[in-house]
Amino acid sequence: MKASPANQKELLRLQSLDTKIQQVEHQAKALPQHAELTALAAQADAVRMTLSSRNGELEDVRIELGRIESDVEVVEKRITRDTERLQQTSSVKDVQALETELAALKKRLFDLEEIEIAVMERLEEREAAVAETESARVALAGTIAETETARDAALVDLRRQLGELGRDRGAVSAQLPEDLTALYEKRRVVGHGNGAALLRARACGACTITLTGSDLDAVRRAPEDEVVFCPDCGAVLVRTDESGI
Ligand SMILES: [Zn+2]
Repeated sequence: MKASPANQKELLRLQSLDTKIQQVEHQAKALPQHAELTALAAQADAVRMTLSSRNGELEDVRIELGRIESDVEVVEKRITRDTERLQQTSSVKDVQALETELAALKKRLFDLEEIEIAVMERLEEREAAVAETESARVALAGTIAETETARDAALVDLRRQLGELGRDRGAVSAQLPEDLTALYEKRRVVGHGNGAALLRARACGACTITLTGSDLDAVRRAPEDEVVFCPDCGAVLVRTDESGI
């Protein structure tokens, strides 16, 4: 293919812009916040599970306390009832029976109150555990939100760069003949991102191989408006004063 040396040189600008675009796209994919957010999401899952199990434990203790409180109420009512009966009865037999029952009820009440205190202590512990996990959840949510904000800000900046690079690329590409840009695109696919390279000191700027023998002769003999390729990576080799041929 024929192309003026000036247009061939423009391919180097196109290549440089494409390389930058590729780098910025890679930066966007490899932002540290992506990995941080993945790790934070795993932590958040773990905290949610802990919170759920601790809430379950707290609920169990509340139910236990409720049961004891209702037992206490029942015993207290019976004590009140028996005390009233005791005041009203004149039967010695009944007095004895009521006094025995009251003694048993008071012992039962004392025991229940001991248990109630222990359960209330456990309730406080469970409430503290839930509160601690809840704070951890809130702190983690804050970190996630901050990291998302940082990621979004970085992405906005990278997208702005991509926009500018894309416009520059469009401007360079628009000035080149279509067959030349089409050739460049094809070579860029084959060369894994390298479509054109400067031949400097007989070496390909893309794959760095040094041209020798018949390859070097062919490039030397080719007219300056003839498009030549790297025999190794296939990139368009752009010849300048630096080419050493
Ligand atoms: Zn090469």
